[in-house]
Amino acid sequence: MNHKDRPQLPESVQRLAEGETFCFACHPGVPCFTECCRLLELPLTPYDVLRLRLGTGLSSTELHNRYIIEEMLEGDVFPKYYLTMVDDGRASCVFVDKNGCNVYGHRPAACRAYPLGRAAMRACGDRIVEYHVLLKEAHCQGFKETTSQNVADYTKSQGLDTYNEFNDKLAPLIQHRQIRQGLFHPTREQIRLYRLALYDIDTFRLCLENKDPSLPAHPDNIPEDDDTLLLLGIDLLVDSFFTENDGINTL
Ligand code: SF4
Ligand code: SF4
Repeated sequence: MNHKDRPQLPESVQRLAEGETFCFACHPGVPCFTECCRLLELPLTPYDVLRLRLGTGLSSTELHNRYIIEEMLEGDVFPKYYLTMVDDGRASCVFVDKNGCNVYGHRPAACRAYPLGRAAMRACGDRIVEYHVLLKEAHCQGFKETTSQNVADYTKSQGLDTYNEFNDKLAPLIQHRQIRQGLFHPTREQIRLYRLALYDIDTFRLCLENKDPSLPAHPDNIPEDDDTLLLLGIDLLVDSFFTENDGINTL
């Protein structure tokens, strides 16, 4: 795409070139501490849910019952999942208090990334093309700090690499060619499987162990660790939803 054809970004959004540095830091001493944990729409990825289980000690099913909202709007291929906000007049995150985030070590990718935005798209085969922007919102005082870093530094400092890696593994499913061409419209049963395998991993494990007949396949070996089970779930969905696999196998 010619740069002249690129959509104009709002003034508060700054596109970052590869290696470009920016000044930013966030810590309990900033005057806006936890401001970004309120009045927000917090989308959850499958890996976010997997990690929030560890941060809360809740099963994926309990997390859904207590803290996760499912939404599927007209035109959506798959449902989307969001963290519930508290009705305290400020729409605060359920996990924030005056000391900060109660699940900090397992906070979702969107929280780790802010104020960095990342777009990742599949190119040829398994290649992922990414670009980054900075969201310079008025309430965020972190840009007044003097810590200089680039995207790679920031990604590493926030533990985002693993989150990005898992989120990119979803590309063969949610960016499948049949979806991009408008040729795939999941049935209710396929939507149920999507939710089960990606967002309710504890129930998914039980279904696999019990050889639930509603599952499209029963692998011989069920991975003991949940990270690998999530990748298996992605593969299982790709294999059962599409007539062809137009990309990588995640396992
Ligand atoms: S999960 Fe933690 S970091 Fe993310 S919005 Fe909630 S309190 Fe803030
Ligand atoms: S608004 Fe910015 S500086 Fe303030 S707590 Fe959030 S990320 Fe940190």
